[in-house]
Amino acid sequence: MDLLEITDLSIAFAGLRALERVSFSVREGEILGLIGPNGAGKSTLLNCVSRVHRPTSGRIAYRGENVLARRIHELPALGIRRTFQNLELFKEATVRENVVLGGTSRYHAGVVRDLFGFSRRFQASAAARADELLRTLNLAEHADTVVAALPYGLQKAVELARALASEPKLLLLDEPAAGMNPEESRRVGDTILTLRKAGITVLLVEHDMRLVMSVCDRIVVLDHGEKIAEGAPAAVRENPAVIAAYLGEEAIA
Ligand code: ADP
Ligand code: MG
Repeated sequence: MDLLEITDLSIAFAGLRALERVSFSVREGEILGLIGPNGAGKSTLLNCVSRVHRPTSGRIAYRGENVLARRIHELPALGIRRTFQNLELFKEATVRENVVLGGTSRYHAGVVRDLFGFSRRFQASAAARADELLRTLNLAEHADTVVAALPYGLQKAVELARALASEPKLLLLDEPAAGMNPEESRRVGDTILTLRKAGITVLLVEHDMRLVMSVCDRIVVLDHGEKIAEGAPAAVRENPAVIAAYLGEEAIA
């Protein structure tokens, strides 16, 4: 059994078929890249797995269990965590506070409660864990900075840190390197490789092909809501259908 099994997944928005019978699996411990042109259905697929959208048909199993029978707030307790293509952070809170809140669902059944509702001891230990995580991710110097004051690339890094605070088993990343400079993007790659060493499974949606090719064990390619290729990075990069749909310009360059 694979960690995440997606079978014949379809969803339509007002007649537009965003996903059409997409099937693939994510194996425990691997980094699976999900790529394709804009509008291919990548974010929609993550939205289905994370229960933001209900698919029209198809199955999603996590450890063999039907994810579609779960509610959105139950997912962190199961070990499923995601980031969003557009940042969803508490912008007026500090980096540390955001990371602390990211960790709370593990202890409070997915309900993000007001920080002041927690016991003093919980706050102290959660803050200590947040600081440790921020050190690991080279973000310690920004711990007391309000998120809104950080450049975009660092805000993206904070979103990843917040998702990690719940110690997920399966991490769904929607363009974690979008808007980053090459150095920041490389750091995201290093972080993802560290995650794999820690046994975390990653489903990675990303346009930065250097990042995708350097960290992914396998890649699935979507185009117009359909899976057009799946395989090892080297094979996918040379797949004519993938080049035609998505990698054309890069292959020529
Ligand atoms: P990608 O992430 O690969 O760029 P998306 O999954 O965001 O693509 O979008 C796939 C298609 O579904 C697009 O045509 C998009 O406009 C459409 N779509 C996505 N979400 C919605 C929504 N909530 N309502 C209507 N259409 C949507
Ligand atoms: Mg998207």
